[in-house]
Amino acid sequence: MSTVAENKGYFGEFGGSFVPEELQHVLTILDENFQKFKEDADFNTELNYYFHEYVGRKSPLYFAENLTKQLAGAKIYLKREDLNHTGSHKINNVLGQILLAKRMGANRVIAETGAGQHGVATATACAMFGMDCTIYMGLEDTKRQALNVFRMELLGAKVVAVDKGQGRLKDAVDEAFADLVANYETTFYLLGSAVGPHPFPSMVKHFQSVISRESREQILEKEGKLPTAVLACVGGGSNAIGAFAEFIADKNVRLIGIEPDQAATLNEGTPGELHGFKCLVLQDAEGNPLPTYSIAAGLDYPGAGPEHSHLKTIGRAEYVTVTNEEVLEAFQVLSKVEGIIPALESSHAVAHALKLAPTLTTDEIIIINISGRGDKDVEQVFHMLNK
Ligand SMILES: *Cc1c(COP(=O)(O)O)cnc(C)c1O
Repeated sequence: MSTVAENKGYFGEFGGSFVPEELQHVLTILDENFQKFKEDADFNTELNYYFHEYVGRKSPLYFAENLTKQLAGAKIYLKREDLNHTGSHKINNVLGQILLAKRMGANRVIAETGAGQHGVATATACAMFGMDCTIYMGLEDTKRQALNVFRMELLGAKVVAVDKGQGRLKDAVDEAFADLVANYETTFYLLGSAVGPHPFPSMVKHFQSVISRESREQILEKEGKLPTAVLACVGGGSNAIGAFAEFIADKNVRLIGIEPDQAATLNEGTPGELHGFKCLVLQDAEGNPLPTYSIAAGLDYPGAGPEHSHLKTIGRAEYVTVTNEEVLEAFQVLSKVEGIIPALESSHAVAHALKLAPTLTTDEIIIINISGRGDKDVEQVFHMLNK
């Protein structure tokens, strides 16, 4: 395997592209097309059309008045990505990439999925655009999220259960890259998070930045000032980088990423290489990724996006952990107090907000990115609470 390091796509020392030459060739073409179409007026008009008409954007920035009163600290706003069609932020990136795939002439789309949300979003868009769709999913995750497997099949996708390694998200990513190398002439790999070799982290950020483009405008409209902090959970880092992007230049806005304490890549990881890019990784002495665990399948990944690794290293963003117990509590609190059932992933951000808000003053503001809705997790939580 020859290694090609591209000069592009670096965030400080992180990012880059460390892949076999034949795959590098595919990624270079992808990057050229992305650079071209992201500035293309017709492309952006079409993307905005689907954001509005199909996804239901813009998503509300909702003032959580009850939760704010209960915590008696900062004003809490919820960015409602859970209200998007298919129930999470994933669809933003899927639509961007699928419009790119169409323009590049691909007729087959492949994707990896952890919780099933990215697979469902990809299968949905493939159904609408009439594309052939294959989803790679770890065997363990197909068991944890059996209904999402059926949902993808209903949408016309083929779901491949990956029975290698831990049978989780990381293993599904490995299989998807192997497929891409074998079939790149007809196939577009629609990667679901802000990870992987260049240009994926930049491309996913670009399409997810719609979150903070809207929320920055919305908070200025509602409050006439910027928030003290923006909170988002971090798996690979796509909802978080989308929620942070437009605030990065606002040095007074704290950017806080929340990780599961047993998959705390940005808190406990060290620089390494994973899936063809450099980032902070949970790894052993030989550089093999360590097993991770989270009650939220979507956060169960031993790496994190290169830009998060960089933001952490330069101190621009903070990354904290919460425990499974705190997450379960937050899941129930938001449900009871606001009538909003958040995804277990998003509940990580809510859990930290429950601790942070009371330490702030009542004229400060917190924005929590509610990356997805919790309907998919209700059965799992039922079993956890009743055991
Ligand atoms: C996939 C997913 C995540 C984790 O992925 P990121 O790329 O870190 O955003 C978080 N929340 C929900 C609802 C998801 O579906």
